[in-house]
Amino acid sequence: MLLEAQGVTKAFGDFWAVAGADLAVEEGEIVGLIGPNGAGKSTFFNCLAGDMQPTSGRILFNGVDVTRASPEAHARAGIGRTFQVPATFEDMSVLDNVTVGAFLRHPQRNDAREHARRIVEMTGLRPEQAGRSLGTPGRKRLGIARVLATEPRLLLLDEALAGLTPRELQEAIALVRRIHESGVTIVIVEHIMEVIMTLTRRVLVFNQGRVIASGTPEEVVRDDAVIEAYLGRGARSHSRASGNP
Ligand code: ADP
Ligand code: MG
Repeated sequence: MLLEAQGVTKAFGDFWAVAGADLAVEEGEIVGLIGPNGAGKSTFFNCLAGDMQPTSGRILFNGVDVTRASPEAHARAGIGRTFQVPATFEDMSVLDNVTVGAFLRHPQRNDAREHARRIVEMTGLRPEQAGRSLGTPGRKRLGIARVLATEPRLLLLDEALAGLTPRELQEAIALVRRIHESGVTIVIVEHIMEVIMTLTRRVLVFNQGRVIASGTPEEVVRDDAVIEAYLGRGARSHSRASGNP
């Protein structure tokens, strides 16, 4: 197992955003994580990437306990993540934004820039474009590029493909596939079922802070507990869904 999260919880006061979540991912997998808004997916990623300390539970990466390690230690160990709302260095070019990530493993400025340039090329961004001039799709792509520059073994994608046009979506799916084929293990949070169906063979369904179902994408969309979690009680007797996705 590359990643093993056991009984992870995260409490905010007396509210449990993550409430006993288990996740095991083998090297080379690409796993989907779906669930309604507020299910705790992003908070779980925060715990897995070291951006938040879990209240309890244990996270092993490549057999090493990283539960209480810093975000930097997580990145160095090879866990990379994107953010649902991407943070961009507005006054810096795309290339400089990505170079920030490349410094993790390339302390020499020229090495870092050269590495960043290859990543920018792979992601189809324009290196000299200013961060502030990017729209949402560009920012999401830049977020992916910057974390790729840290050379992760495990990549956690948090709705990195949301808000794209159909054509941009196809390009982004192709990009994720290339990243996976280059040897990176991926856990992808996404509401767009087309993405999950196209990219993954195993999906976990998150609700109220823990995994309530798992299986192939085809299996989970038919699962009663999943339909209930997404659409609410009695949803099947109505013709229109009120929630996500
Ligand atoms: P998801 O990503 O599945 O939509 P989140 O992990 O963002 O869900 O949020 C899960 C729940 O935890 C939500 O009810 C959210 O309001 C709450 N939450 C997230 N972060 C915090 C925080 N820093 N403080 C308090 N509550 C939070
Ligand atoms: Mg989220």
